Amino acid sequence: MADELKIETALSLARSLTTIKGFPRYEEAITAVAFDLVDWCHGSLIDERAYSAEAQAAAVVNEARLTWTEWTGMADLRALFRAKFEPTREYSLEGQFGKRPPIDCHRCDDIGVQSLPSGDLDWCECDLGQYSRRECPSLLRLCKGKQFPRSAAVGWGTER
Ligand SMILES: [Zn+2]
Repeated sequence: MADELKIETALSLARSLTTIKGFPRYEEAITAVAFDLVDWCHGSLIDERAYSAEAQAAAVVNEARLTWTEWTGMADLRALFRAKFEPTREYSLEGQFGKRPPIDCHRCDDIGVQSLPSGDLDWCECDLGQYSRRECPSLLRLCKGKQFPRSAAVGWGTER
């Protein structure tokens, strides 16, 4: 959603914050808050409920007015906005790409390249192996380039 908060609405909401004890009453402060609200609020979908930019701004301002006994600054208003409308995202790989699917082919562990009993590497016969052979012919060479003797692999993870 890319909604815009109108500056007149933002100014009116910012002005209503003067009901909180300690909120600065001069016009510059109110204008600054209004511009911050415009900056933050672009609408969002939270828990399957759609909020317009105006609904977001009103929700944050009203919660502050009704629950804060004293104005503690923009950082706290910003934190309130974030808590309501910016759910924390997972930055893990699983968060970005979803859960890793189970491995289909245990010959190549879904890499497309398998180790032959001789110790050499070759394309796997599975679909992914055949796909990689067609679409990414340099993969086999790359894997071979990274190959190291089996004797070296035995202590892998214990040596530095
Ligand atoms: Zn395979």
